[in-house]
Amino acid sequence: MTLLVTGGAGFIGSRFVLDWLACHQESVVNLDALAYAGNPMNLAALDGDPRHRFVHGSVNDGALVAALLAEHRPRAVLHFAAESHVDRSLAGPGAFVATNVDGTFALLEAVRAYWQRLSGPAKPAFRYLQVSTDEVYGTLGPLDPAFTEATPFAPNSPYAASKAAADLLARAWHRSYGLPVLITHCSNNYGPHQFPEKLIPLTIERALEGAPLPVYGDGLQVRDWLYVDDHCEALRRVLAEGVPGRSYNIGGNAEHTNLDVVHRICALLDAQRPRADGVSYRAQIAFVADRPGHDRRYAIDASRMATELGWVPGTAFDDGLARTVAWYLSRRDWVDAVKDGRYRDWVASQYEAR
Ligand code: NAD
Repeated sequence: MTLLVTGGAGFIGSRFVLDWLACHQESVVNLDALAYAGNPMNLAALDGDPRHRFVHGSVNDGALVAALLAEHRPRAVLHFAAESHVDRSLAGPGAFVATNVDGTFALLEAVRAYWQRLSGPAKPAFRYLQVSTDEVYGTLGPLDPAFTEATPFAPNSPYAASKAAADLLARAWHRSYGLPVLITHCSNNYGPHQFPEKLIPLTIERALEGAPLPVYGDGLQVRDWLYVDDHCEALRRVLAEGVPGRSYNIGGNAEHTNLDVVHRICALLDAQRPRADGVSYRAQIAFVADRPGHDRRYAIDASRMATELGWVPGTAFDDGLARTVAWYLSRRDWVDAVKDGRYRDWVASQYEAR
């Protein structure tokens, strides 16, 4: 038996593939375009493992996807591949529509054709799992109840809108064609191998460089945080027991303001890698102009995951964050390899000119 995973060289997808192969005998075909956040180093532990086949290609290439499906006959497709960074979506939304909307459409069409030709028990057993975000639900006020699976979509960034569009396509492929679709909406992930443009690794890296630590606006935007391994476990549970046509909210029960997250990272670095001058890394915090359309608060009600699938997050935020900081301190080889010239140009364009 085989899974087809898209985007399995990225932050969450690679973790999922590693976890999957650590606890299953099934093989994985991993289709990734190696866009800037896709990194074969994330999969180095699988070198020589015959259960992992990496294919360098795009989900937008329907003929390639169809050929992989015909050759490997997977029992499930897990769709992680995406453009995933809100700031990049503000600077250049076209790539987000191309990958997240057009790419999902191309994938769904190839999967539909494959699934319609399945026969016997393979057909009802097949699953298509779309990995999505809580950002499709828009923003909450401080006292609003958390997002449930019934919360209407109200995306505010080009990234969130492109993911919402993809989710609606997947939903329609279930309703119109009967494709066994599962959709997950997860809160902010953190952990090893996250590209250092996202809040937690960006803060760690800039702290170590002695650069200002950018905090948008007043820094009081609230996000729910989930350790990436907990997300992967939740996805395995949804794949095994989720009901086609349903969506599942996945969250960490860990709401924190961005400023609080930055303070915690500074405290961990102060303890694990103190500055030579003995001053706290907090001295580097710099408030910068807020992101346009910046959502104020996300909060996830993940009670469906708990009551229907028996999943709750296992990692306390402080533990996961300490582990993450320690990983970035210990894996300078990984960090140095991803911080190429394009990365530096991007960070400079975002934070140095303000
Ligand atoms: P990432 O940016 O680290 O990885 C995305 C991967 O997709 C990369 O390996 C990239 O090379 C690949 N990719 C891009 N375009 C492709 C294409 N056309 N064809 C094939 N591969 C392509 O992102 P991530 O943080 O690992 O997120 C993975 C998924 O999880 C995304 O769908 C994202 O929307 C969703 N998600 C992320 C978070 C989070 O906090 N990171 C939270 C909830 C949901």
